[in-house]
Amino acid sequence: MSTTQKPFGEPVPLLDLKAQYASIKKDIDAAIARVVDSQHFILGPEVEALEKSIATYSGCAHAIGVTSGTDAILVALMALDVKPGDEVITSPNTFVATATCIARLGAKAVFVDIDPVSYNLDVSKLERAITKKTKAIMPVHLFGQMADMDAVMAVANKHALPVIEDAAQAIGSEWNGKRAGAWGAMGCLSFFPSKNLGAFGDAGAVVTNDDKFARTVKLLRSQGQEPKYFSKIVGGNFRIDALQAAILSAKLPHLDGWTAGRQKNAAFYRKRFTELGVDANASRPSKSQPLTLPREGKNVRHVYNQFVVRSIDRDGLKKRLAEQGIGTEIYYPQPMHLQACFASWGGMPGDFPEAEAAANESLALPVYPELSEAQLDTVVRATLAHR
Ligand SMILES: *Cc1c(COP(=O)(O)O)cnc(C)c1O
Repeated sequence: MSTTQKPFGEPVPLLDLKAQYASIKKDIDAAIARVVDSQHFILGPEVEALEKSIATYSGCAHAIGVTSGTDAILVALMALDVKPGDEVITSPNTFVATATCIARLGAKAVFVDIDPVSYNLDVSKLERAITKKTKAIMPVHLFGQMADMDAVMAVANKHALPVIEDAAQAIGSEWNGKRAGAWGAMGCLSFFPSKNLGAFGDAGAVVTNDDKFARTVKLLRSQGQEPKYFSKIVGGNFRIDALQAAILSAKLPHLDGWTAGRQKNAAFYRKRFTELGVDANASRPSKSQPLTLPREGKNVRHVYNQFVVRSIDRDGLKKRLAEQGIGTEIYYPQPMHLQACFASWGGMPGDFPEAEAAANESLALPVYPELSEAQLDTVVRATLAHR
């Protein structure tokens, strides 16, 4: 690789967590030292402090810190008593954890195709997916942009169905001024290192405005015990580490600044790509417009966990950018209905054409806040050279 010419500039990774750590090293190191000195590793004041600030940040009454985003989804579904025979409606264009949590409880995921512009579930197709077995609706706010939650909630309320938001990629995102996680019965956040608020390992949270769900999720994450050694319900060990909580508390005050950086980078991409001939309003790539840009909905605060373009030759583009030292990723190459692990649900190619097209065409470009304009410009020129 070192002999490959790089005519477009220096290599650009998809994500550079070292740059972020360097910018706040003192605060993070102090937070870690505080927990190590206290030797208080499970729940306690660090976790409570984080939960308070995450709840406030999300516009919710409660946040419950858990082991991961996946476990946030699992305990939220457990709190709704999702069980064998139930159906949960969700998006086929998501990370596999959304659907595996449904499967792990013996329930079935019923998919609704996505809207090709937002990548979130197409709410006009939601109502016809509801059956007598439907137990919940779980929209996914993909890439940092929320689903149309006014429309989701209207359908859910009409059928008296609870909504769980998979907000793993969308902390701080808003639909009509209301934050991700604050709309449904519960919202699920992930603090996986590549998410907008990343821990130093796995962590997540359930946010809710409902006192009863908050209490149940708290019970579930600690073996259903209340008091200790007396279990009311079957739970598990889904507790967030105090160490992760302290690190996340040190990072949270920076999140809005990082989000502004991501938004600025997205705006830069949009400006440069359109200056160089890309139609910012095209939603699907075609022979005449081989590359399209992500579009931001009118009612959203998009937090750009990912900046996803579409290309008629996505795999060629990815390869070509890799040769230039530019990191990209495909989110996601295989929709849920075609995953081998869900074969028993009977999904077939062609079932969800928009999700399948997105899987074949989409590519995430680097958008992390520490990128320089020179790096962004390198990505734009290398991307367009391939077109
Ligand atoms: C990251 C992610 C999850 C899972 O979160 P983890 O913290 O990695 O367990 C679930 N759903 C979506 C959409 C995600 O992006």
